Amino acid sequence: MNIIDIKTVAFSYMISNLICLIVILIVWIQYRKRFVGIGFWLADFVFQSLSLLFLVLRGAIPDAVSMIGTSFFAVAGTVLVFIGLERFTGKRGFQIHNYFLLGLFLAVLLYFSVIVPDLNMRNISFSAALFVICLQGAWLLLFRVDIELKKISAAAGYVLILFAATSLFRIVFSIAVPAVNNYEDSGLYNTIVLLSYQMLFILFTFSLVLMVNRRLFREIKMDMMLREQRAIIINLRLVLWEYSTTHDVKELMQKALDEIEELTGSLIGFYHFVDEKKKGLTLQAWSTRTREKFCKAEGENMHYSLKDAGVWVDCVRERRPVIHNDYASLSHKKGLPPGHAEVIRELVVPIMRDRKVVSILGVGNKPVEYTQDDIELVEYIADLVWTIVVQKQADEKIKVLNTRLERLAMTDELTSLENRRAFLLQGEVELKRSNRYKQPLEMIMLDIDYFKNINDTFGHEAGDVVLRYVADVLRKNVRNADVVARLGGEEFGILLPNAQAAAAIVLAERLRAEIEQGTCEFHGKKMIVTISLGIAEHGEKSDDLHTLIRNADIAMYQAKREGRNRVAVFKNYPQPVE
Ligand code: GH3
Ligand code: MG
Ligand code: MG
Repeated sequence: MNIIDIKTVAFSYMISNLICLIVILIVWIQYRKRFVGIGFWLADFVFQSLSLLFLVLRGAIPDAVSMIGTSFFAVAGTVLVFIGLERFTGKRGFQIHNYFLLGLFLAVLLYFSVIVPDLNMRNISFSAALFVICLQGAWLLLFRVDIELKKISAAAGYVLILFAATSLFRIVFSIAVPAVNNYEDSGLYNTIVLLSYQMLFILFTFSLVLMVNRRLFREIKMDMMLREQRAIIINLRLVLWEYSTTHDVKELMQKALDEIEELTGSLIGFYHFVDEKKKGLTLQAWSTRTREKFCKAEGENMHYSLKDAGVWVDCVRERRPVIHNDYASLSHKKGLPPGHAEVIRELVVPIMRDRKVVSILGVGNKPVEYTQDDIELVEYIADLVWTIVVQKQADEKIKVLNTRLERLAMTDELTSLENRRAFLLQGEVELKRSNRYKQPLEMIMLDIDYFKNINDTFGHEAGDVVLRYVADVLRKNVRNADVVARLGGEEFGILLPNAQAAAAIVLAERLRAEIEQGTCEFHGKKMIVTISLGIAEHGEKSDDLHTLIRNADIAMYQAKREGRNRVAVFKNYPQPVE
């Protein structure tokens, strides 16, 4: 006796199927551009509806057509949904065996529908085809997909297992209790099977929608994380570039390590330069925390040979980032030097230029395991740091070169004293200072007497020796604050900031005497050198440096006129108090 009529179940199945079809149609319209494979699901749902239509129409259309239509569309639809699931999960595989299965099933179906009508055999072959395809689907969703995706796809996988189990049960039951040869009168058992398929189909629809939903949620979450990380990286990039303009290379590396430590949640950080040619490494920097809390071992600029270094140089040998999440278990690790930070886990990345490892950056002791995300972050920052370091080193070289050039442009080559240019520049500074602080500023101008004679008698080379001799005496006798320069030819100038007039006269006299009495020899011949000096003072009202120089010059020529080898003061010069 049938409690439920199979025709009613078939009809209700068709209605619920149409509702499911509409649901999947909406999913397809919304997400067909975002996820592939949903079109195949939709095709399956259309096929399943057709299959049920053929079932419902039984009696109104020829039995064979109804039987073949119902079974064929159901199995073909299942193949389609399997193809769709493969595409959706990104695991496309061969389908030839399924097409072959479908062809074989159609042949068997025709045989048992038209040539030797046998409901039992049709049921068995239908259930067997469904069983094989559903099992493949379950295998895909539960085992073939990546571990992350499995969390999303497992529900649909379990529904497919239920489908397969129902089909298996039907095969076993059909063999054990062969049905009568009329589907409509085949009793409660077939009605329950149909009802089960209906329920499972509704469940399957739910699981598909849930799968799309979860995947969407995951992708949005990942998008957000990616965006957040990108923003952090861009910000860090700016911070480091800016930091590099006011700090040296060492400080920059330390700052970068501190930042990476923070971003990855690590507790130690180190940066080494690598010289692959010399097979060596030099420790350049530790993060602030490593330096303060962890590492008491020998420090910066320490050289290691690559082959003596610990497992952290695996990344140099392998030329790729290396993660040791369980440092203690590494068999090839070397002992750490005393005072070295205890390493629990580490992530080390090599920085490559021209296919050579130029430096390595490592972080360690994150409380949880390092992942691919950490690698990407550390790699990016390490590369950036190297770029800035190289740029900074080039800048620093240029700076040194510039300083040297500047010095060259300010120095007299022969005597190594300052030249006229430097004298004028510094003179302006001293003049301003003198004006501002109302401090006296003295100037001594001196010229070698009869220098032409020295040149003519002993030669130009001897003249140069004399010039250097005079320069040495001047250098020895002035204070640090004084400015001594060779102004040109055999003329020298001395500026004495914040010196009293009397002191200038004393110095001038001392210079005169020392030069006259000192020994100046050329090829064993002693030369007598004398100088004439003129002194002027920058008075409260005397306007500029040129006036001061001119006044000293006038005084010097007065000394020349008075017989040379003497000191003269400019006429307005305040006379020393006796
Ligand atoms: P006075 O006592 O009046 O100063 O006589 P003087 O012979 O020293 O005359 P003057 O100061 O005009 O001499 C300048 C000479 O200095 C002319 C030039 O040949 C020489 N001279 C200039 N520069 C150099 C140099 O770099 N090396 C040498 N050896 N001689 C130089
Ligand atoms: Mg002279
Ligand atoms: Mg002269």
